[in-house]
Amino acid sequence: MADLLQRLRAVAAQARALDDTTSRPLETVIDEAVDACEVVVAGRRTLVFGSNNYFGLTRHPDVVAAAKSALDRFGSATTGSRIANGTLAMHRDLERELAEAFGRRAAVVFSTGYQGNLAVVGALCAAGDFVLLDADCHASLYDAARLSGATIVGFRHNAPDSLARQLGRLPAGGKNRLVIVEGLYSIHGDVAPLREIVRECRQADAYLMVDEAHSFGPYGDRGLGCAEAQGVSDAVDFVVGTFSKTLAGIGGFVVSDHPELDALHMLARPYLFTASGSPANIAGVRAALAIATGQRDLATRVWRAVHRLRAGLIAMGFRIGATASPIVPVTIGTLGRTLEVWHAVLDAGLYVNVVAPPACPADACLLRMSCSSSHTDAHVDRALEVLGGVGRELGIVPAR
Ligand code: PMP
Repeated sequence: MADLLQRLRAVAAQARALDDTTSRPLETVIDEAVDACEVVVAGRRTLVFGSNNYFGLTRHPDVVAAAKSALDRFGSATTGSRIANGTLAMHRDLERELAEAFGRRAAVVFSTGYQGNLAVVGALCAAGDFVLLDADCHASLYDAARLSGATIVGFRHNAPDSLARQLGRLPAGGKNRLVIVEGLYSIHGDVAPLREIVRECRQADAYLMVDEAHSFGPYGDRGLGCAEAQGVSDAVDFVVGTFSKTLAGIGGFVVSDHPELDALHMLARPYLFTASGSPANIAGVRAALAIATGQRDLATRVWRAVHRLRAGLIAMGFRIGATASPIVPVTIGTLGRTLEVWHAVLDAGLYVNVVAPPACPADACLLRMSCSSSHTDAHVDRALEVLGGVGRELGIVPAR
């Protein structure tokens, strides 16, 4: 007879193989946060190049002050869902401010970005509909499509011709198809060719949803993401995003001009049946939204860090992602080799992310670095020094 716990034992055994005695790539414990890009790990000050704090707003005085004030005025939590006692005026205010920022008719706020994706796709799609997903889409989008009951049709990553082929195979004449892509993809740091994707959607009468989780902030004149940067905002039916990156909080959102979106407040189960965002969090996000869309020098600073980091890595002989973006993937090799480098880098005081299969091929595992406007030239140079030292010592890059 099968044991329900056997599956968990197998996963635990796999995870143990990744650990060494001091640190775990899957759950590095941070004892203290010094500032937006430095933390304490195992008693050591550690420079962070592996967070999504793109504008460093977790420590912005306005964000912290807004969160503190809300904590004082409203307490620590709403203790209820949006349809019960969990709608504060500030939840509605944030929805209005997001709609205004994007120049859209309506916005809905969710407790996490993950839940937002489940809510939007689950409300729009059901059995008999088609969800067309880029192969590199985030797990939340796959889960959302699965949960909706729609037929999932994959297409090659960032390949409009593959999307066109898949759209062409669907039964003619339906309006029951939703194409989902991201603006900036989180593993390889590459950007969707949205103009071409919009063209294919229009040709096939498909709705388009763009997840701007990683692109909100650094991309576009007002930081609204890749659709704004590529001049196709008006052609996107649904923009979704998260508060857990540039907006320095936790939660998710959708904005749209379709008036039907209001029904999400009544039927989206991941919206209805979970507690709403806490007052301190929502107040902090409102402050972060004003800063992110208003103070565009933050984007300039992110890009400065990106270009300096990429130039340094290339000069030392590292293999990095082709696209200049705030996400800089560094290809190392097998998982074993990548973990060896990751541990050595952490021991030297630098935290980055590990990307392992199935997110990448088994022989091309990555260290993923993310840049922030809080990274000064000195921070970037320190990260390069650590990576260079470890890379040369372990034979990842040539000796000088
Ligand atoms: N969409 C994408 C593309 C993401 O990368 C993420 C988070 N990594 C999410 C959605 C989920 O966001 P959240 O952390 O708010 O649940």
